[in-house]
Formats: sequence, structure tokens, C-alpha cells
Amino acid sequence: MNAVEAARWYFNQAADLMGLSQNMRRLMLTPKREVKVQIAMEMDNGEIGTFLGYRVQHDDARGPMKGGLRFHPEVDADEVVTLAQLMTWKTAVVNIPYGGAKGGIAVDINLLSRGELERITRRFIDNIHDMIGPDKDIPAPDMGTNAQVMAWAVNQYEKYHGFSPACITGKPLELHGSQGREEATGRGVVIVTEAVLNKLVKPLAGSRVALQGFGNVGSFAARFLHEAGAKVVAISDVAGGVYNPEGLDIAALSRWSSEHKQGVTGFPGADSITNDALLRCDVDLLIPAALGGVITEEVAKDIRARVVIEAANNPTRAEADEILHKRNIVVVPDILANAGGVTVSYFEWVQNRQHFNWDLARVRKELDRVMVDSFDRVWNIAQEKHVSLRTAAYIIGIGRVGRATVLGGI
Ligand code: NAD
Repeated sequence: MNAVEAARWYFNQAADLMGLSQNMRRLMLTPKREVKVQIAMEMDNGEIGTFLGYRVQHDDARGPMKGGLRFHPEVDADEVVTLAQLMTWKTAVVNIPYGGAKGGIAVDINLLSRGELERITRRFIDNIHDMIGPDKDIPAPDMGTNAQVMAWAVNQYEKYHGFSPACITGKPLELHGSQGREEATGRGVVIVTEAVLNKLVKPLAGSRVALQGFGNVGSFAARFLHEAGAKVVAISDVAGGVYNPEGLDIAALSRWSSEHKQGVTGFPGADSITNDALLRCDVDLLIPAALGGVITEEVAKDIRARVVIEAANNPTRAEADEILHKRNIVVVPDILANAGGVTVSYFEWVQNRQHFNWDLARVRKELDRVMVDSFDRVWNIAQEKHVSLRTAAYIIGIGRVGRATVLGGI
């Protein structure tokens, strides 16, 4: 099953239990709008570079659409549609007043200079500025993009529309960003990790963790796990991974990774480990925080962790999900586990609209509340209906979007 089919399969599993009609299913699955644009720009060497950019607006029944911008060579129309749909359920699961969207450019940012990265961002916004905006569709960072890219994106948007910081979230603090946005997804991952371990009557302190991905989400998750006393024994990035059964020194690994082009590999005092072996490590918790589709059927049979926390979007193939379920491995689904990012993006948008800044303590307190409440609701539905946490999360997400759609009318 490819990613699009898998997303539909997860949706239908919940929709079957809810008795949702075929008409409602078609209405809720079909994206509102899909846009594919050509991004032409001058490269540093004077040649013309041509790239493809995408923005998919999936559903706006509950509010303006919201979703990240991904710059990665594997971005394509199917991936963006799938991720936009996930955003619709995710914003509904954590009950923030948004619909779902997603965008991206098929490009390897490692091959771009800083100037080229800025130009590709600006040209992309030139192409989509009319369809985004504070009350329409609000982009944010995702794989391959960060606060700097968001700063260029807002600046370009404002050339057309004037001062409008709420048009994009994940901005630098100096340009109307929010305290706690950068750490939010990783922090949210750790909040739900603690919550699920609580239910399973297991402590987080002393738990052994394997983490795939050491970018925005992975590095903050590692830091907060370490602070909570967990032992992060394996971490990887695109170039490979490192393993230390006694636990990695996260602060030292962060310094190493930012100072060395090859990322985490070569970190002194740790063995090297492949991305594939990391997924099969002897650990209590496995946290994929990089690409989608990495937990395949074969990997699912070998996973030794008792709990999988989906920090990445769509990391588990549908066939693999069945295997994990049969093996009684608890999976905290992406639409709940990584919702901390969009939740603090919502706080940023609220602050921008009110022209009133919150301090870090307030952001963290509000995030903790949203994540814990959302987790409890998903957990209770799963217990009540004897379904997985994923199906329970979809039941909540689809239910909220469905009710808003019916109340609003066609
Ligand atoms: P990032 O670009 O900051 O980091 C990505 C990490 O994945 C890097 O360490 C990179 O080296 C690694 N990686 C890339 N290709 C890989 C491969 N083939 N094998 C192993 N590792 C690989 O991205 P991010 O923002 O941390 O996003 C990571 C995941 O979390 C994505 O699935 C994204 O959709 C999801 N997510 C991000 C946010 C957010 O706020 N940034 C919010 C929700 C979900």
C-alpha cells in the first residue's frame, strides 16, 4: 500500500466503525484544492534552475487551513495530498480551530547555497501568495525548512499584502515568532510519551530509547527525553547513526552534529549503527522522527520496542501497523504524537492577531494541557471501543470534522 492508500485505509477503518456514509467519506477525503507550480530561478552559477512546488488545501470545515512546507527531494503530489489530509485530522484531534493543508518543493537543500535557498523560497511564495493568508491557509516549517525560511516567506508575502505576521508560523522570535515554537513538536512528543508510559505503569526515567532523525523534532525530543531521565541509546540522521548502550550525551552530540558536516556519525564514544538497524534496536521506546514509510512489514516483525511514538508524519506503513497491533506494540499515532508543533503554531497565530506576546512558561503550560487532554481523550476512546490509539484518534478527528461539515452545510 502506498502512502495515499494507507491514509485512506486508516480513515476507512475509523469510518467503518462510525458508520460514515460513502458520500461523506468522498467529501471528507477529496482535497478542496491542489496546486502544482513551476519555480524557475537563477542559480549561483548563472544557469536556470527549474523546480516543482506544491500546495494542497485539504479541508477548511473547522477553520483556515494549516500545514508545513517541506523542502525534500522526495516531495511529490501524492505525498503532499497525504500529509495535507493528516493535518486535517491532526488539528481536529487536538481541537484547534484549523483545517489541513501541506506544501513543499521537490529539492535537495544540501545542493543549494544560502542565496539559492532564499530565492527558491521567495519564488515559491510569488506563486502561491494569493491562496495563503491568515484567514485562508497558514504555512509553517517542516522537513528541510526552518525559522529563517519562514522569515523569507513572510517577507515575500508582505510585499504583496502588507504587514501580516499571522500569514505564516514558525517565524524567528525577532519577526513575530512565538516562544517555544521551535521546541514544540519535540516537547509534545515527550509529553505524550510520558502520558502513554503513565497508562502502561512504566516510568520514563531509565527507559531506553532509539530515535531516528536529529533535526528540529528529533533533537528537541532527545533533549527533553534526556532531561526526563530516559536513556537515549541510538540516534541517526540521513548519513547514519550512533549507538551507546549506556546512553548518549545529547548536549555533546548536538554540538558535534552542528560542527560536523556529516551530522551525528563519527561522534566519539559511540558505535556506528545504520538507520535500518536502529529501528530494530533492543529498546523500550522507538521514535521515528525523520521520513515517512520507514516502518515496513519486515521492520515491524523485528521491532523490539514495546512502544512506538510517531514523531515523524506517516512513518508506519499500513501493513506494518497491523503487525504492530497484533504484536501488542503500542503505537502513538502521528496525528496525536507530533501535534505539539501545530498547537504552538496556533498559539503563535493567536499572539500575532492579538499583538500580545506570551512568555515561554505560558506557552509550555498551554501546550502541556492540550497534549495531555488530547492524549487522554484518545486513550479513553481506544479503551472504550477496543481499538488502537490510531483508530481512536481518527474517530475523534473525523467526528469533529464531520460534525463541522454537516453543521455548516454544503
Ligand atoms: P528536519 O529537516 O529538521 O530534520 C529531519 C531529520 O531527518 C534530519 O536529521 C535528517 O538528517 C533526517 N533524515 C532525512 N532523510 C533521512 C533518511 N533517509 N533516513 C534517516 N534520516 C533522515 O525535519 P523535522 O522538522 O525535524 O521533521 C521531521 C519529521 O517530523 C517529518 O516527518 C515532519 O513531517 C515531522 N513533523 C515536523 C514538525 C515540525 O514542527 N518541524 C511538526 C510535525 C511533524
